[in-house]
Amino acid sequence: MSSTQSPQSLNEVVQKYWGYDSLRPLQQEAMQAVIENRDSVVVLPTGGGKSLCFQAPAVCSSGLAVVVSPLISLMKDQVDAMTSCGVPAACVNSTHSPDERRRVIDDIISGEIKLLYVAPERLVMEHTLDFLQSIDVSFFAIDEAHCISEWGHDFRPEYRSLKMLKKEFPGIGVHCYTATATPQVRNDISQQLGLIDPEVLVGSFDRPNLSYQVERRHDRLGQIVDVLDRHQGESGIIYCISRKNVDEISASLNSQGFKTLPYHAGLDDTVRKKNQEAFIQEKTDIIVATVAFGMGIDKSNVRFVVHAGMPKSLEAYQQESGRAGRDGLEAECCLFYSGADFNLWKRLLGELDGPAYKAALSSLSAMYNFCTGVQCRHAAIVGYFGQTIESKSCQACDVCLDGLDQVDDPLILAQKILSCVVRLKQNYGGDYTAMVLAGSNDKRILEMKHDKLSTWGLLSDAGKRNIRDWIEQLIGQGFLLKYGEFNTLTLTESGQEILRGSGQPKLLKPRPQKKDSRASGKRSKVSEDDWEGVDRELFELLRELRREIAEEKSVPAYIVFGDAALRDMAKLRPSTKEVFLEVKGVGEKKMQDYADEFIACIVAHCNEENVPMDVQ
Ligand code: ADP
Repeated sequence: MSSTQSPQSLNEVVQKYWGYDSLRPLQQEAMQAVIENRDSVVVLPTGGGKSLCFQAPAVCSSGLAVVVSPLISLMKDQVDAMTSCGVPAACVNSTHSPDERRRVIDDIISGEIKLLYVAPERLVMEHTLDFLQSIDVSFFAIDEAHCISEWGHDFRPEYRSLKMLKKEFPGIGVHCYTATATPQVRNDISQQLGLIDPEVLVGSFDRPNLSYQVERRHDRLGQIVDVLDRHQGESGIIYCISRKNVDEISASLNSQGFKTLPYHAGLDDTVRKKNQEAFIQEKTDIIVATVAFGMGIDKSNVRFVVHAGMPKSLEAYQQESGRAGRDGLEAECCLFYSGADFNLWKRLLGELDGPAYKAALSSLSAMYNFCTGVQCRHAAIVGYFGQTIESKSCQACDVCLDGLDQVDDPLILAQKILSCVVRLKQNYGGDYTAMVLAGSNDKRILEMKHDKLSTWGLLSDAGKRNIRDWIEQLIGQGFLLKYGEFNTLTLTESGQEILRGSGQPKLLKPRPQKKDSRASGKRSKVSEDDWEGVDRELFELLRELRREIAEEKSVPAYIVFGDAALRDMAKLRPSTKEVFLEVKGVGEKKMQDYADEFIACIVAHCNEENVPMDVQ
């Protein structure tokens, strides 16, 4: 690379253009690799700040940085985000006219562009390569680099052709960025691209700003509404497994007065696009979608992600829930699962061939075990990716926050449940078994004379819902199996051992009855920290102003300012440009563009409410 810049000047660049006064973990090292022209593979979770790792070095370098990005739909937003910070960037793709393309080429030749975004298939076209050979390319950055690997979750054959970069551009650094954590994918990226002694940087997969809530689904709509009630006026995504669920849930929520839009592959292209845009532009807060939604959504202020059904793997869950809180501020991820989801996925995966089916089934089981599990959710997720976290209690998941301790004597409780399954001759499902244990007088139970069993009403104090949860926990730990068309419960070998008095089942105490974990005073710690000193009323006014400006400029709201910057503004409450520049996320360009409007709003509010300004 043709730059001689030191890391110090990188920090200056980050401050000047982005208004950030510190770097996130591994950003410094990742930028250093670019500056030193050493190939690199950088693995950071969604929201970890991968873009800055190549954008800031691109500004420091004298040539053109070429960024390979898989989605044309995303390129415009990325370029808009760069230009809004004062960094000259451009993209070329099939939506451009020959004239527009010519203009970009002219700007590159005259050295006015620092970053060029391009899709892999366009990059490897002969005329693109010829053009790039004729200019000063500083380095290549490959975004979503897992797309090159068949082991990844989003293999794209066109990424394979990027192999030629190291041959066609010897001596020019190739830097790869992904959020996919598995070592297999990481190695594959490096091998496929022929990277030379790459710097491999792998960050922590924990997302401390996310709080996780995992509950068995017993009242789908009611459970979703509880989440929406805690997030009024905030952006969120509700994921469903099927298109039908999307349509149903979106319609039901709308009939209850919420404003949601649906998104799935069955909708007309224009409707889908319109709905996605309404979400990005903050014209609608809530989108109900299949997993087709999300790839390429860079919206940083998604405050909640609900899974109305269980995803098919923890990789998928990490990706989808990871779309919450990319701005580093607190966000909530709620997952409502049911044993039926497991069976549905199993059926859908049945179309795969032998080894692929086996692998998918094992990922599915790991996901189900996570749902029924009793370990801190943060620890369980990073543990799945082979990492550990230090703190004993994250204070940001249902297990740690609700104090979901184990019951006092899990072995006895498990024996009671399993012996009821045996008394029912291993012929009934989870719901029925739970009703018997709860002492229900349901017609079917009376007809079958199951009210005469010694286990009828044995756990009547606990109530059906808790018993049902315990049954799922026993299934998750392999003591019970669901069997056949009707999901009848059967004891496994280890379940038999429990009845003989050995084994260590883990069963959670019932969840405290609550409608709202925030209202119950158990807010996630991150949530409290993030709002400290922030004038919430002012924050809402600034959001409204941001929305108006974004609409006027036809750009996504987060490109004007992220939520983190607005909160910092509502905390510092700057009345002068000097103080405005101290807001995190305000660089020089944004100060010039927006200071007047935002300061006017701040001053008016503070005068009216008699609130102090310029709080340092
Ligand atoms: P990723 O590509 O890893 O998912 P992004 O590059 O989109 O993450 O960054 C996520 C968010 O974090 C963006 O809003 C970005 O502006 C912000 N961000 C990145 N680096 C920093 C930093 N050093 N300080 C503050 N905010 C940052």
